[in-house]
Amino acid sequence: RNPQAPDYLAGLNPEQRRAVETTEGPVLVLAGAGTGKTRVLTTRIAHILATGRAWPSQILAVTFTNKAAREMKSRVGLLVGEQVEGMPWLGTFHSIGVKLLRRHAELAGLKRDFTILDTDDQIRLLKQLIRADGLDDKRWPPRQFAQMIDGWKNKGLSPAQIAEGDARAFANGKGRELYAAYQERLKTLNACDFGDLLLHPIRLLRENPDILREYQQKFRYILVDEYQDTNTAQYMWLRLLAQRPQAQRSASAQAPAAGAPADEGSAVDRGSAGQADSARENQQINICCVGDDDQSIYGWRGAEVDNILRFDKDFPGAAVIRLERNYRSTAHILGAASHLIAHNEGRLGKTLFTEQPDPDDARVMVHAAWDSEEEARGVGEEIEALQSKGHALNDMAILVRASFQMREFEDRFVTLGLNYRVIGGPRFYERAEIRDAMAYFRVVAQGADDLAFERIVNMPKRGLGEASVRQLHDTARALGVPMLEAARQLAESDEMKPKPRAALRQVAANFARWQELLETTPHTELAETILEESGYTDMWKNDRSADAPGRLENLKELIRSMEDYESLRGFLEHVALVMDTEQDENLDAVSVMTLHSAKGLEFETVFLPGWEEGLFPHQRALDEGGRSGLEEERRLAYVGLTRAKKNLHLWFTSNRRVHGLWQSTIPSRFIDELPEAHVEVAETGQNYGGYASGGGQGNYGGRRNPYGASRFDEAGGSFSNTYATPGWKRAQQNRTEATDRNWGTRSGHAVERIGYG
Ligand code: ATP
Ligand code: MG
Repeated sequence: RNPQAPDYLAGLNPEQRRAVETTEGPVLVLAGAGTGKTRVLTTRIAHILATGRAWPSQILAVTFTNKAAREMKSRVGLLVGEQVEGMPWLGTFHSIGVKLLRRHAELAGLKRDFTILDTDDQIRLLKQLIRADGLDDKRWPPRQFAQMIDGWKNKGLSPAQIAEGDARAFANGKGRELYAAYQERLKTLNACDFGDLLLHPIRLLRENPDILREYQQKFRYILVDEYQDTNTAQYMWLRLLAQRPQAQRSASAQAPAAGAPADEGSAVDRGSAGQADSARENQQINICCVGDDDQSIYGWRGAEVDNILRFDKDFPGAAVIRLERNYRSTAHILGAASHLIAHNEGRLGKTLFTEQPDPDDARVMVHAAWDSEEEARGVGEEIEALQSKGHALNDMAILVRASFQMREFEDRFVTLGLNYRVIGGPRFYERAEIRDAMAYFRVVAQGADDLAFERIVNMPKRGLGEASVRQLHDTARALGVPMLEAARQLAESDEMKPKPRAALRQVAANFARWQELLETTPHTELAETILEESGYTDMWKNDRSADAPGRLENLKELIRSMEDYESLRGFLEHVALVMDTEQDENLDAVSVMTLHSAKGLEFETVFLPGWEEGLFPHQRALDEGGRSGLEEERRLAYVGLTRAKKNLHLWFTSNRRVHGLWQSTIPSRFIDELPEAHVEVAETGQNYGGYASGGGQGNYGGRRNPYGASRFDEAGGSFSNTYATPGWKRAQQNRTEATDRNWGTRSGHAVERIGYG
């Protein structure tokens, strides 16, 4: 080997270096957070290219997010510089699936220019099919069926392959038929859905051995990041590509010849026809997967942590490499995370150490707040303090368990004028359900808001199809009136068919009534009335899909956030202003995202708010997943803790306001599971801007205080008694008594009241 290690290898520890240099044969890097798994993968690509083992196009690298793919591309570019001709196949399973499918579209019954449907299109299509079958789409919601189909596709199952029981689970046994009809429709539309991006490539490769062989020969090196979260379909797809080719290798499959000798000592198949037989014997599958069983957090979406656990059975002779040095976090942070995750059973277990400097001896801070407003205020203060000490906002992140938690922070940042960006999803007020609800409110506040009116005139569906909406438009234009007024008039005329006419009459009457209530009813109450009477809340309640409960939570949070404003109009104005702030990629900004989107990322300072029973661990995960649900929540906590390099702040609130009522909450059991040696409880006064010391009404800056000032002080006092050091332990004891008693059948006592369930 080269006596002088190339630059890109310098700085790697011996195990990392082994993982990079063991280019031939199957390799599994199984290691904890921050140990350099992703760095190993990137360096490995650089190494393969720099030593001429393969052309870029002979490398297949799979990342978990598109963002990660972009980062890896640029890192590889930096490491190997100009030498890279073309690029590796580098992306998520889905983006690589698209690339493959575009090349062989006709074999999947599609044309090259096929479109990829989004969820809305998909659901519209399913609805048509369900109705065409004479089924009631309320009883058998298309959204739920979309999720079932997605589940099947994640398991790699075509209609013919789904189990009897599964097929019966929808529409009295029509599941299979409908699924098949849906796939046929997609073909006619020259379209596929997201799941097809996995399913079609699998079928295509299975049914066309010559093409499969072509790719098996093409991809000499396969690399996979976050392997613990691959689902069955992704696994099948990898297995297909990572098999030995069935026939002799052709000359075209050779490694690049000119100026790029393969490592003599390795088992690389140089593949001339004469050596084919013995070469096939020796030929290795050069696949390298990296992952961490403790960070498997997508079980609810079909990921199979078993894939990583049985790697060496799938690929006999695999080199399993463990990395133990964490290069990301301080000893306090790593100590806290390791101690927490040790509470999980079913894990491989691993040793981790760090030598990251920690001059401030900064322990993991646990902060108690009265409610989520104060939590956001406290986090905001901390961020401003760090900023004034010269820290960049780019180095800070807030990671939430549920998306509704973002709202309070986003509002706070707008007030403070702090830049933030939401990663991996829309900002709170940009979410579809929030926009729908806001559209109702806008029409009530301002009857001529046609854009808003059009958004919700048939939402939920009330039989006002395209034709009716066009008629509404025409009438409005002809009369020179807003659409709402046109609706009122059309409802009284006989120009419309009876069914849409009745629907319009209902809509017009509803808005007239709500507009009257606007003057007399408290606006939060009115908002709730509107969402209920319009059928909008019911639409989501009847929706059995996995994202529906989250949307309902967001709607509740929306109503809650209105309490901070004097009137509906004041609130609408606030939202308009919030929406006006831009998300600029290049801006120095705090990142806000869910814990699920934070996988693989790292920040100097991380804030983890809402560590309360019922929210985190999330009640739904406990209800639906039992013990394994809890363990997946704990892995999520581990992912959260291990994103931090230097500073880590956990927060819990002692109250959450739900439906306008205060309800007390209990600190998360995960706080209890942190080792005291690495944790420090923040002094209340210091973090609260003088709350407990009777800041009272003044701190509220004109917000409505449902308790009144005196009650609040009282509560503030009891708060500091209960939760200040070392009271948090006491608080946890309370929790243990209150809720652990019915562990296993957790009725969700405190939690159910909070309403996350
Ligand atoms: P996760 O499990 O969270 O995905 P990971 O194992 O993929 O973590 P990386 O993101 O690759 O870890 O590395 C964590 C941090 O440590 C990165 O900032 C990386 O640049 C740094 N790092 C990794 N190895 C070394 C090394 N040998 N020397 C210095 N820094 C390193
Ligand atoms: Mg990583």
